[in-house]
Amino acid sequence: MFINIHTHQFHNQGIEIINKDDNPFTDGLFSYGIHPWNAAKWLELEKDFFAETNHENCLAIGEIGLDKLKGPSIQEQIDVFKAQIAISEQHQLPVIIHCVKAWNELKQLKQELKPLQPWINHGVEKASIVEDILQSGMFVSFGKGLVQNVKLQEALLKVPLNQLFLETDTADCSILTLYAFVSKLKNIPLHELENSIEQNFKRVFTKWKNGLNGQHF
Ligand SMILES: [Zn+2]
Repeated sequence: MFINIHTHQFHNQGIEIINKDDNPFTDGLFSYGIHPWNAAKWLELEKDFFAETNHENCLAIGEIGLDKLKGPSIQEQIDVFKAQIAISEQHQLPVIIHCVKAWNELKQLKQELKPLQPWINHGVEKASIVEDILQSGMFVSFGKGLVQNVKLQEALLKVPLNQLFLETDTADCSILTLYAFVSKLKNIPLHELENSIEQNFKRVFTKWKNGLNGQHF
């Protein structure tokens, strides 16, 4: 089974987790979170956040995170991030993280908060931090950016299969293309990659494993 852990549009391929923030009418599996760009609107959005993250189809909190290129002050982003992490821990939902030029702050937050829920650094494009992400115990998820980025491809070679996810994010590409690309790059059979990511998915997205209503499959 092919797993797409983060997408902003429907593809109808395998299991996909829709970013509900911009797909409000989805009835599939989804993640929900207040994006760092919208952190200043937390007070008006928190009601939606609590309602959505309580929904039975909500498998993860996200994307949430820190972005030094866009959005309000980093302190404001950190406050909103922490508020959402508290809910992730309370509801036992993993976190899909958007992190731009704020890796040190994110790493520090993980050390400070010591979350029990898994954190997934999504759409990773910076090869130089991949090893550090893995060391911090987070998962990495790669998207289409991998295809053009040779340094990132080299970094991927060192990513153990049990810390890896794939995603299409906003790109108009098929998750199958990404699986095929990574399988070739890592020189492992496609079904082995498929199985490993499926195991990760079951381990991390425990709400899915524990049942939901089963109707999606
Ligand atoms: Zn995204």
